[in-house]
Amino acid sequence: MSLLEVNGLTKSYQPGNPILKDVSFSVEAGEFIAVIGPSGAGKSTMLRCLNRMVDIGEGQVLFDGRDVGAQNKKGLRDVRKNIGMVFQHYNLVPRLTVIENVLHGRFGYKSTLQGVLGRFTEEEKRKAFDLLGKLGIAEHAYKRCDQLSGGQQQRVGICRALIQDPKIILCDEPIASLDPNSSRIIMDHLKTISIEFGITCIVNLHQVDVAKDYANRIIGLRKGEVVFDGPSPLLSQRF
Ligand code: ADP
Ligand code: ADP
Repeated sequence: MSLLEVNGLTKSYQPGNPILKDVSFSVEAGEFIAVIGPSGAGKSTMLRCLNRMVDIGEGQVLFDGRDVGAQNKKGLRDVRKNIGMVFQHYNLVPRLTVIENVLHGRFGYKSTLQGVLGRFTEEEKRKAFDLLGKLGIAEHAYKRCDQLSGGQQQRVGICRALIQDPKIILCDEPIASLDPNSSRIIMDHLKTISIEFGITCIVNLHQVDVAKDYANRIIGLRKGEVVFDGPSPLLSQRF
């Protein structure tokens, strides 16, 4: 059984204007996949369908054999526990510290933010520190997130995604707001995570060269359709 199966996904926000058209692919555990395509191609919408951050339209998303679209609230929470998300604009809570933001990931993104640190066991806090250490930002643990650079904030975002031991992380343009140097650092971390922790990664990117450097497999989207799906070296330069 594949970790993730997308079958005939057709998604519209407005009737008669499909953003994704009959998208199908499956993902095996451990893959590092880049989704590329021009702005507006539907990359973000596709990632958001996978954990039902937006309603899945027609078609089916199976995660670990479970029909994501058919889950009730509790089922969906279980599915999302295994799916970490990383965003272009980090989506951190600026007035919370780094470590609070990381631990916040354990709440399943509920909005209760009061006294976040107090709710966690020493072991959970240690785990958060370990992750911050792995990503080279442990020294910033007690700073407010808005005091960090973009690249550092994205590393916090990655730690938050990892705190629940997800099977997969979905990264929506994680480097689009970063300079080339910070971008490489982030991509290096994602690659290391996928290899060291065995976590499957799907990364939306608009830079073809970065996709080719890091991903084993590339899915090319254009106007909501999959126009390429294969090993990175086979992607033509002209994509
Ligand atoms: P990409 O990530 O490839 O840039 P998106 O999935 O963000 O593509 O957007 C694809 C299309 O869907 C765009 O035309 C965008 O304007 C539209 N779109 C995205 N989100 C929404 C939304 N919540 N409501 C209506 N249209 C949307
Ligand atoms: P809302 O639905 O009003 O955005 P949530 O509590 O669901 O409120 O989300 C709070 C924040 O966490 C938002 O910025 C959202 O984008 C982000 N978020 C939602 N789901 C996830 C997820 N699975 N992983 C990481 N961040 C998430």
